[in-house]
Amino acid sequence: MTDTPSRRGLQTRIVRAEDDLTPGFESFAVPVTRASTVVFPDLAAMRALDWRNDAQWRYGLHATPTSLVLAQRLAALEGGNHALLQPSGLSSISNVYFGLVKAGDDVLIPDNVYSPNRDHGDWLARDFGITARYYDPMVGAGIADLIQPNTRLIWLEAPGSVTMEVPDVRAITTVARARNVVTAIDNTWSAGLAFRPFEQGVDISVQALTKYQSGGGDVLMGATITADRELHLKLKAARMRMGIGVSSDDCSLILRSLPSMKIRFEQHDRSALALAKWLKTRPEIAAVLHPALPDCPGHEFYERDFTGAGGLFSVVFDGKYSAAQIDTFCESLELFSLGWSWGGAHSLAMPYDIASMRTEAQWPHRGTLVRFYIGLEEEADLRADIEQRLAALA
Ligand SMILES: *Cc1c(COP(=O)(O)O)cnc(C)c1O
Repeated sequence: MTDTPSRRGLQTRIVRAEDDLTPGFESFAVPVTRASTVVFPDLAAMRALDWRNDAQWRYGLHATPTSLVLAQRLAALEGGNHALLQPSGLSSISNVYFGLVKAGDDVLIPDNVYSPNRDHGDWLARDFGITARYYDPMVGAGIADLIQPNTRLIWLEAPGSVTMEVPDVRAITTVARARNVVTAIDNTWSAGLAFRPFEQGVDISVQALTKYQSGGGDVLMGATITADRELHLKLKAARMRMGIGVSSDDCSLILRSLPSMKIRFEQHDRSALALAKWLKTRPEIAAVLHPALPDCPGHEFYERDFTGAGGLFSVVFDGKYSAAQIDTFCESLELFSLGWSWGGAHSLAMPYDIASMRTEAQWPHRGTLVRFYIGLEEEADLRADIEQRLAALA
């Protein structure tokens, strides 16, 4: 009996249907290619695969055409050569640790780092035999005194997640290069648009794509971007061993948002800067921690190294207001929601007790810090909302 396709059973024909639904069809959208299994033409092709080659398809977990396009666009955007995608910004941070650090190694972490990064470092120190030490983010070239023979990795964040100090990145990377220590920056705040890490001597850039790249508050993803191929391969090997992958559907959502990211970022920046300048004039506010304003430690490095700021900044209230009063202030805002994450259209406000979050750098302020994320609402409406709640404080 000849096994011609038309004589196969219905179930087989359904499974084996090979419809090319889009011959000659081209559009602006990147197709969503879902796959766990990747099919090889023959065993020789399978055996010739090399995991180092980003252009080869091996397994859906490692990459699909959709995820590769996103990775390539992110690498180009940031000024790097390679990118790997992880299912959250935090898993990108984790990928850096597991790609570079082994038992006996030492890691330096800025005192104002994104706090789950701090927790990750503490976890590895407690359970996996590394040492994680914290440094004053304004240490600059003084980082040289902290580097030990076993220091493998120095984290940077510019500016720090909540307190917004802008480090002298160039001073730190210059020392690190001379001492052969890898540097990784969490560059989420600038979205890779307003700060060019590889021009500043940084080795690895981490992006929480969950923020501006998604822009919708509805997708979680992260990326590690590198200029150097050896470093990329170290991260890639760890990613593969940890079984980390991303869904093509999520990649497609981010690919859809990416073209508008710069325009959104600039709008967030305009509104946030205007509100920050206005808040500076308010008697209830002791300090405005916006890198583009002189109150912010490291403002001079912002001026030197950044081309914009986006929507995230903090203020410190006058110490005469209790933490409970500031909680009420945040809860009573109508156009600012209470929530983690940011980068979407909706404004957010969140109070922080900074003194409890750091161990190295003295925190000079007494009042409660509130971090604002300025979304895409009308700036005048946001200002009126804050103004009304400030008046209620008095
Ligand atoms: C949100 C954020 C992350 C983590 O991103 P997730 O996708 O939420 O895990 C990392 N770093 C910074 C600075 C962030 O703001």
